[in-house]
Amino acid sequence: MTIGSFIPPQRTLMGPGPSDIYPQVLQALSRPTIGHLDPLFIGMMDELKQLLQYAFQTQNPFTIAVSAPGSAGMEACFVNLVEPGDTVIVCRNGVFGDRMRENVERCGGIAVMVDNAWGEPVDPALVAEALTAHPEASIVAFVHAETSTGALSDAEAIAKLARQHDCLTIVDAVTSLGGVPLLVDEWQLDAVYSGSQKCLSCVPGLSPLTFSARAIEKIQARKTPAQSWFLDQSLVLGYWSGEGKRSYHHTAPVNSLYALHEALVLLKNEGLEQAWQRHRDMHQTLRAGLEALGITFVVDEAHRLPQLNAVYIPEGVDDAAIRARLLNDYNLEIGAGLGALAGKAWRIGLMGYAARRENVALCLRALETCLK
Ligand SMILES: *Cc1c(COP(=O)(O)O)cnc(C)c1O
Repeated sequence: MTIGSFIPPQRTLMGPGPSDIYPQVLQALSRPTIGHLDPLFIGMMDELKQLLQYAFQTQNPFTIAVSAPGSAGMEACFVNLVEPGDTVIVCRNGVFGDRMRENVERCGGIAVMVDNAWGEPVDPALVAEALTAHPEASIVAFVHAETSTGALSDAEAIAKLARQHDCLTIVDAVTSLGGVPLLVDEWQLDAVYSGSQKCLSCVPGLSPLTFSARAIEKIQARKTPAQSWFLDQSLVLGYWSGEGKRSYHHTAPVNSLYALHEALVLLKNEGLEQAWQRHRDMHQTLRAGLEALGITFVVDEAHRLPQLNAVYIPEGVDDAAIRARLLNDYNLEIGAGLGALAGKAWRIGLMGYAARRENVALCLRALETCLK
C-alpha cells in the first residue's frame, strides 16, 4: 500500500463544530513558521490578547488562548480553581455540564448537581436553592450555550447569584463566544473558556480563556499545586505576559495562533454586535425554512441558540441515512443528536462563517430533497 497526501473534500460544515473556516484564516495558517520567542511573534501574541479581550468584552489582563481544544480550556478552569475538598455547584442541562462534574470530581472536589431537562436552560431559582443549601460552596459552574441541546442560559443572572453567595463562576462559553452576547466584565464572570472552532470559525485546537482578578487570587492562594503541570496557569502567566519577560513554557502552536489572530481580526472588523445580529438573522431564515418543511425545534423560542439549531427528526425518517446523503450528495455536514437526543434530533450549526445565506439555502434545499 502506498500512502500519498491527504486531500480532504470541500465540505460545508453546519454541525456543532468545527464550523466552516474563513478562507483568510486558512491562508494565515500557511504563513511561514517563526520561532515562538521571536520578537515579532511576541508582538503578535500581544495583539492576540487584545483581540481576545475584545471578543470576551473584558479588561482582564489574564486573557489567553490555551494551546489545546475547548476541553482543555474547561480542564484549565477546574484544575486551577478547584482544590481538594472544595464544593462546586455544577449546573447540568446537557452533555457538557456532566463533563464539568467529572472535572470537579477528578480535582478532588465535591460536585453538587443542579439539574434541568435536556433542551431547557439552567433555572436560576434552582441555583439559588443549591447555594442556600450549600453555604460551603465556593464555585458555581455552568454552560452558557449548551451545544448538545441548543439552549442558552442566563449567565448574568447565575453569576449574580453566585456573587451574592461569595462564589466564583466557571463559565463554558465554547459555543457562545462570537455568536451571542457574552459580556465577561459587565456580568462579572470569573473563569470563562471557549473554543477556536465554533463561532470564531478558526481551526480546532485552541481554547480562549480569561480569568478575573478574583479567580487569579484564588489560584494564588492555593494550598496545593494544580495537579496538571501543563494546564497550571500560574506557570503560563509568565509565558503570555509580554514586557520582555516571556520565557519558555511549551512551544506555542505558532501557525494556529496566526489563524486565531486572523479570525479575531475578522470579528473585530465585522463588529461583535453585527456578528451577533448576523447569527440571529440567519437563524430566523433557517427556522422559517425548516418550519415550512414541518420540522420543529427542541428548545423553546425564548432560550434558543441562533448558532445551534436542535430540531426533531421527522417521524419515520432514517437519521443516519439522511445525514449520509447530505454528506455524500451535497458535501454538507449537519450534527447528529447527542446523549438523550441521539437518534431523536439533528443539530444544525450556523456558527461564524457558516452563518451565511448560501449555507442556509443549501441546507434547506438539500433537506427538502432528501426528505421527499
Ligand atoms: C465543543 C464544546 C466543548 C469542547 O470543545 P473541544 O474543542 O471539542 O474540546 C466544550 N463545551 C461546549 C459547550 C462545546 O460546544
